[in-house]
Amino acid sequence: MDKLNFLTAGMPLRTGNKGYGKAFEILDEMQLDGLELEFVRGVRISDTSRETVKNSSMIKTIHAPFYINLNARETEKIDASIQRIVETAEIAQDIGAFSITYHAGYYLNMDKNKVYDTIKKQTAIITDTLSKSGVKVWIRPETTGKATQWGDLEEIINLSKEFEYVLPCVDFSHLHARYNGISNTYDEFAQIFETIAKELEEKKPLEHFHAHMAGIEYTAKGERQHLNFEESDFNYKDLLKAFKDFDVKGAIVCESPNIEDDAKLIRDYYYTL
Ligand SMILES: [Zn+2]
Repeated sequence: MDKLNFLTAGMPLRTGNKGYGKAFEILDEMQLDGLELEFVRGVRISDTSRETVKNSSMIKTIHAPFYINLNARETEKIDASIQRIVETAEIAQDIGAFSITYHAGYYLNMDKNKVYDTIKKQTAIITDTLSKSGVKVWIRPETTGKATQWGDLEEIINLSKEFEYVLPCVDFSHLHARYNGISNTYDEFAQIFETIAKELEEKKPLEHFHAHMAGIEYTAKGERQHLNFEESDFNYKDLLKAFKDFDVKGAIVCESPNIEDDAKLIRDYYYTL
């Protein structure tokens, strides 16, 4: 991609019930670059919306449903999870979204290596299915905010090494919450970019990055809820400085509750750097 793009998580709040056409208008007026479609409650989009989104030249990504657990004990739950990711990716390809993200699963108190192998096995099914139908979008497990959820940075980097179209979606606020307040300084942010660039060098990951950011509240157990940046201790300024210094291109999706206002805040701050 040619620059770093600033996206809202879902339609801006002031869209009201006016749909994607209005949402893109608002984003454009605010000098934002696009949005992440929220399929978090199911892979559903009307034909009209689909056409509108497809016809927009703005940057698009999709968040797959929350009801995904590639490490579920029940086969039906695993199959349904695979299906949800595959369908999300197929729609992404159709509407011109460059990347999809999802929370891959839960450890369920199982051995971490065993969980990794299970998630790898299910990811192979997903990527094989997509490759057979010619779908070429980035499939991105997201770094998660709780210690019970699979997906620390190392696990996702390792998984990315195994599959052509897999890369991390780095949710910086989740990492901050997952480790109860660390991962919030310039040096820690820089370390994340350095590690990803080095470990996944062949895929040029900083050229088409996919990140999530929001203010966040957390406890020792990790993520509690998203907050607006100004109500939270999340150090978005140093993070944006690191984005700039590493010349990261791609998409940052802002997930603060005020959606477009924080997206605008980080976009404007970034351009002062
Ligand atoms: Zn997410």
